[in-house]
Formats: sequence, C-alpha cells, structure tokens
Amino acid sequence: VKAPPGPVELLSPADLFVAVKTTGRYHRQRMELLMDTWISRNLQQTYVFTDGEDEKLRKRMGAHLINTNCSAAHNRQALSCKMSLEYDTFINSGKKWFCHVDDDNYLNVGSLLKLLSQYSHTQDVYIGRPSLERPIEATERLGTTETKQVRFWFATGGAGFCLSRGLALKMKPWASNGAFMATAEQIRLPDDCTVGYVVEALLGMSLVRSGLFHSHLENLGLVSDVRSQVTLSYGTVENSRNTVNLNGPFSISEDPTRHTSSINLLF
Ligand code: UDP
Ligand code: MN
Repeated sequence: VKAPPGPVELLSPADLFVAVKTTGRYHRQRMELLMDTWISRNLQQTYVFTDGEDEKLRKRMGAHLINTNCSAAHNRQALSCKMSLEYDTFINSGKKWFCHVDDDNYLNVGSLLKLLSQYSHTQDVYIGRPSLERPIEATERLGTTETKQVRFWFATGGAGFCLSRGLALKMKPWASNGAFMATAEQIRLPDDCTVGYVVEALLGMSLVRSGLFHSHLENLGLVSDVRSQVTLSYGTVENSRNTVNLNGPFSISEDPTRHTSSINLLF
C-alpha cells in the first residue's frame, strides 16, 4: 500500500483500538508506569489484555481490563491465546484500526494518528517495524505429513504494529474465535510472526515498514526526533540501560525508562 502525500482520512482517537499485552507479574512492575503516563491520557481507546484478575488495575481500567484466562506462561500457546482475544475484541469493537503494543512500550497516540491518517482503514494495511533483516522462513504444516516452506515478513510485536479494519476482516478465517491459536500451531511460531504469516503468506499482502515503531531489540540511544516516534521502549542489554535519550525533565534515576519524561515532553 502506497501512502499518498497527505492525510486521506481524518482520524480521531476514538477510531483506534489499542491492545496492551501484559501478564500478572508485570502489573506492578510495568503497567503502573503505563497507567501513570500514556494510558491515563488515552483510556477510551486502550484495552489491557492480561492473565489474572487485579483489583487495583480493575479500578483504573474498568471494563478495559480484559482478563483473558489465558495461561500466564511465556509460551507460544499462551501468547497466541492473548493475541486471539485482542483480535476478537477489536473486531467486536467496530473501531477502524487495531494496534498492539507490549507493556514496555510507550505509545505516542498523536504520532500514531498522524501516521494512520495517511491510509484508509478500508485499505489492507499492516504497519510496523520488521523484526529481522530478511523474511523469516518457516515450515507450514498442511496435513498430517505434508509440509511447505514459506517466507514472509512480520512486524515485531515488541515495537507495536497496526492493522486496518479492512485487512483484519480478511484475516477472519485464520484469526477469529480462536482460529488464531490453531494458525499459530500450524506454523509453530510466536504471536507476532503468526500475524505476519496470515497477512503475507496466506493473504498475499505486504507489511508496510515504518521506522517510527521501536522495541528494545534496537539501540534506542540512536533514535532521533523522539517526539515524532509512534512507539518507544526500554530494556537492558547485558546490564546496561537501553533507552531513548531525553534530556529531562526527569533525571535518569527518577525516570530510568524515560516514559515519564516522554509524557511531559509530548503533551
Ligand atoms: N508476556 C506475557 N506473558 C509472559 C511473559 C511476557 O504476556 O509470561 C508479555 C509481556 O507482558 C510483554 C510481552 O509479553 O508485553 C513481551 O515480554 P517481555 O518484554 O518480558 O519480553 P521480550 O520483549 O524480551 O520478548
Ligand atoms: Mn520487552
């Protein structure tokens, strides 16, 4: 999909469905920071998908906290279970755009709206940052013995990605009502790769690459123009911090992830 030079669709925050994936043990450690920063300003369009009840988080999110009852394990089944529910909840929401982020992402909704308004939600749009330098190669299991090699690009889930409603609807046979979990098993890959598999290998559409999405797999210190980015993240690489560079307003010891400084700069 080629983005025309100007906005093609006037988008408002209410057109977005933002799914945040988390897990019980990260509610205090990660979700509170998001709640205190970008989520609190975007409660209407943000839905938190987790694996256990939490009174404190429930009080803040209300019905936007979705307890998936998926396993709290960090395995393929548990993660594709969450993505499957993110997808179904989006389809039922009637919103124009589905965006997924992890609980270590900072989301700049303003930049996101600007980016997505260059497309129409009725087009087939899958946008994000490719995880690898080249397409992933995987073995598709067709029958009990039959297999096929497939190559496709996918957007790394840890940087966040979006799907237009038009494309999401076409994914239904492989994604709706739990089908996503079966699809992930068929290709034996994690949830974000499975989305790429459905879009590229099964539907024949292509990932739109955007350098505005960031995960902690990249060197975040190299990100320039932090204000314009759609997502940020933070992490540690061999015990050293990996964050974007922001001169404040908060010090690194007050705000090690830079999320709190981001919210103050961006709003
Ligand atoms: N996560 C999850 N279940 C788990 C572990 C992690 O749902 O058992 C989520 C976590 O909340 C985050 C995402 O998966 O949104 C990625 O986890 P993490 O950042 O710990 O790992 P990495 O980025 O290194 O893959
Ligand atoms: Mn992470």
